[in-house]
Amino acid sequence: MAHNEAVDVVLVGAGIMSATLAVLLKELDPAIKLEVVELMDSGAAESSNPWNNAGTGHAGLCELNYTPQAADGTVDIKKAVHINTQFEVSKQFWTYLTKKGTFGSSRTFISPVPHLSFVQGDAGVSFLKERFEVMSRHHAFADMEYTEDKATMAEWMPLMMPGRPTDEVVAATRVINGTDVNFGALTNQLLTHLTSAPDAQVKYCKRVTGLKRNNGGWTVSIKDVNSGNTREVDAKFVFLGAGGAALPLLQASGIEESKGFGGFPISGQWLRCDNPEVVKHHQAKVYSQAAVGSPPMSVPHLDTRVVDGKKSLLFGPYAGFTTKFLKHGSFMDLPMSVRAGNIGPMLAVAKNNMDLTKYLVSEVMQSMEQRLESLRRFYPQAKAEDWRLEVAGQRVQIIKKDPKKGGVLQFGTELVAAKDGSLAALLGASPGASVTVSIMLELIEKCFPNKTSGEWAAKLAEIFPAREKVLETDAALYRKINAQNNIALELVEASSETESYA
Ligand SMILES: Cc1cc2nc3c(=O)[nH]c(=O)nc-3n(C[C@H](O)[C@H](O)[C@H](O)COP(=O)(O)OP(=O)(O)OC[C@H]3O[C@@H](n4cnc5c(N)ncnc54)[C@H](O)[C@@H]3O)c2cc1C
Repeated sequence: MAHNEAVDVVLVGAGIMSATLAVLLKELDPAIKLEVVELMDSGAAESSNPWNNAGTGHAGLCELNYTPQAADGTVDIKKAVHINTQFEVSKQFWTYLTKKGTFGSSRTFISPVPHLSFVQGDAGVSFLKERFEVMSRHHAFADMEYTEDKATMAEWMPLMMPGRPTDEVVAATRVINGTDVNFGALTNQLLTHLTSAPDAQVKYCKRVTGLKRNNGGWTVSIKDVNSGNTREVDAKFVFLGAGGAALPLLQASGIEESKGFGGFPISGQWLRCDNPEVVKHHQAKVYSQAAVGSPPMSVPHLDTRVVDGKKSLLFGPYAGFTTKFLKHGSFMDLPMSVRAGNIGPMLAVAKNNMDLTKYLVSEVMQSMEQRLESLRRFYPQAKAEDWRLEVAGQRVQIIKKDPKKGGVLQFGTELVAAKDGSLAALLGASPGASVTVSIMLELIEKCFPNKTSGEWAAKLAEIFPAREKVLETDAALYRKINAQNNIALELVEASSETESYA
């Protein structure tokens, strides 16, 4: 009888998650044999593509939904602090790789772009002021600046101030050391680096169609999308890094932990401007507050994007609804994901989220003129001819069982792993690519606990000199690591005072 090919690890999908995990595993164990299987003909063809996401290096600097305000006016910054330190962990990995010399330059994927928050009206201003007071006391946000002065705002965001009513009440914060990240370029750089090592392959135009348990792990069925030929590969560990399509594969695995999960796809659109005369007046990512009733991922922002060395502006996202789990997916994705185990939570979410449904319908029904009206709340003098509509990537939000409500909709990410650690899937989309490295570290701690505390421990400590928890509380260490990462990734000029940790 013919034997299947055998590898240690199969990673489904060639997005930022699989690419990061594959490179990390290869660093920890150079002898590991692994295969990345991707249905498209290149890496980063779905959410990780630079035009399918906003490319914000999420570090909690400007996203107002990460710092909720309680009824008594207090602002909770825990989530922003956590995301900030997760981003520092991502930067440590990229720093480690760029210092190796064979990985290539960081300039291809990360660029310095200031992060600003902008609010309008008395309530917005009092929220932003309180947020600034609390945040600027934390070492991660010590460089944050606050202003209600329109002349200062005109310096920070020259495109956004002309044409506003003189009596408009506005305020802004700015952190100079924000970033724009081309996660597509990073993904492809990781994949190229990966395949320069022995026993690491990326197979394109191949779809994973099934998973079955075998004695030591899993048998993965793979279909060539051009020829229709199928093959089977045995793997000790499988990562379902299929983005929006991870849910159906998780369901196909049949693991107990997959039961009860459902997916709610939300699509997106942007307005994009490539006119250099407009683009040159905006060097920032400016985030504002989401409209009442809208989901957190639809916070409007006007962003400088740096893709392949060229600058553009992106505004949005405008949300929408489709039943596809991937941009290149099928309209049958959502109906085919309904199971006896998740129909209850899915119906409960449909019943309890009428506001969201109404919001999505209103977004879908918008005309181009209405979209431009939203843009003009940011950039009052925006001209229609400078902007075109682009389709963004898909976000499949998680639906989960809930003992009280029957089912809840979650806007974060969730790592679902088999009890024996032989398979893991990543569901959800936010805060996404920026915190990939922390999520993949969580995965290896969950699925390879003996190795992470044993033979991989020294290498992990070398790559990650300071993890999230310690960065949250140790101000001196945070400052040191942050400065070193920023220099290594060419985000700031090197200064003679900065010591190296390499
Ligand atoms: C509109 C939008 C804006 C965003 N903005 C930001 C942002 O500003 N900052 C940020 O950090 N994050 C952002 N994100 C989130 C970020 O883009 C995602 O979290 C990240 O790209 C997910 O990476 P992934 O590798 O899990 O998935 P993907 O990049 O989607 O990759 C999954 C891959 O799996 C492949 N695949 C699927 N099924 C199969 C199969 N059966 N067999 C083989 N291959 C398969 C797909 O073709 C795809 O290439 C945004 C996302 C969206 C949609």
